Amino acid sequence: MLVVLSFLFGALVGSFLNVCVYRLPKDESIVFPGSHCPHCNKSIAFYDNIPILSYLILRGRCRNCGKSISLQYPLVEAVSALGSLLLFSTFGPTLSYLIYYFFFASLIVITVIDLYHQIIPDVISLPGIGAGLLASLVLPKITFFNSLMGVLLGGGSLFLVATTYQWLFKREGMGGGDIKLLAMIGAFLGWKAVILTILFGSLIGSLVGIGIMVVKGKGFKYAIPFGPFLSFGAVFSLFYGERIIRWYLFLNR
Ligand SMILES: [Zn+2]
Repeated sequence: MLVVLSFLFGALVGSFLNVCVYRLPKDESIVFPGSHCPHCNKSIAFYDNIPILSYLILRGRCRNCGKSISLQYPLVEAVSALGSLLLFSTFGPTLSYLIYYFFFASLIVITVIDLYHQIIPDVISLPGIGAGLLASLVLPKITFFNSLMGVLLGGGSLFLVATTYQWLFKREGMGGGDIKLLAMIGAFLGWKAVILTILFGSLIGSLVGIGIMVVKGKGFKYAIPFGPFLSFGAVFSLFYGERIIRWYLFLNR
């Protein structure tokens, strides 16, 4: 029963995350006004604003103007709901669940905004670093020292990569947004997870990059945002990090 509630809670928060994705890059208030159609501007009635379901019932079209609604809306709601459910199944009705779900939800917003705009908003990552440091005081899985090391390693390592790249190629290869994002990930998950996140994020990022080059041709130049892959790596570390580290230590005994 509670697991179902955690799914519904995640779906509800998901529809708020959609609002953040749409309004944060425009510096609009995320509270007022209520949801409205991006095409015809008509405000959306509460019965047409039910997470996931409304999209299916309306078959992805606005009730007023009939123009299509982005698939992003139900997708974000579904991912948010699923993440909430998985985290609840892992941590139960604890503060850990709420904190990690808050972290997960921030990563969703960062990922979608980075995909659309190639930026990672400071208004999420900077307070996120502080929130992660504070959270380590109450989270049983991580000490404050580990969290602090995570911030330093996460921010420091990417800063080093970014400055080296800039020095070698005389152009910016990695944005400051990625640096702050990895510092935030380190704050919530600790320094070991930072290493896993870089490894896993780069692996998935290279695979996707190669895939795009194969499809679009070699000469194709497009800056693939790194934020989504870092986020993906962080979620992977959150769920499987401990298991992988234990397995790795076991192999090296
Ligand atoms: Zn409309």
